[in-house]
Amino acid sequence: MDFIVSGKKACFLDRDGVINEEVNYLFEPEKVAIIPGVTEALKMLKRHGYLTVVVTNQAGVARGYYEEKDIHAVHARIEELLDEHEAGIDAFYYCPHHPEFSDECECRKPNAGMLLKAAEQFDIDMSESFLVGDRISDIYAARNAGCAEAYLVRTGHGANEIENKDVSDIEIADNLLHAVQTFIK
Ligand SMILES: [Mg+2]
Ligand SMILES: [Zn+2]
Repeated sequence: MDFIVSGKKACFLDRDGVINEEVNYLFEPEKVAIIPGVTEALKMLKRHGYLTVVVTNQAGVARGYYEEKDIHAVHARIEELLDEHEAGIDAFYYCPHHPEFSDECECRKPNAGMLLKAAEQFDIDMSESFLVGDRISDIYAARNAGCAEAYLVRTGHGANEIENKDVSDIEIADNLLHAVQTFIK
């Protein structure tokens, strides 16, 4: 009997504080700095057959700090820096909204909208997929989407979140590479 192949597995990645160093409201491509270990983590994900999908809240658009074209420029820079190491990102999703400055939306994390959209577009099996983020809202987005696991990293805002919020039921990892190594084993 044949096995029924039901969807691809994915690693959902928050962007700021997970892939690139946290800079408040990053919109200048020249300020993109990749966090140590990220290239190795992305290569490991590829080797093990995971799609790499960025899901990032970019409320700076709703707030009027920058435009959507600036987000695209930052993503192009991230890809440029990562491709030098043959460790690209399969897809970028962003939420430009903020409830106080624009309409309510389904995509702003902790809502699951971006993950569910990616799942539909790439035929992703959530039960085989996981997320890595530096905010508790990232973790809840993964839970709302039905991901198998979600890791809160100490990079970016993570250290502050871990120190000041209740993280007793959340898996903690030092950084993206550590999270990937823990999930894939
Ligand atoms: Mg972040
Ligand atoms: Zn949104």
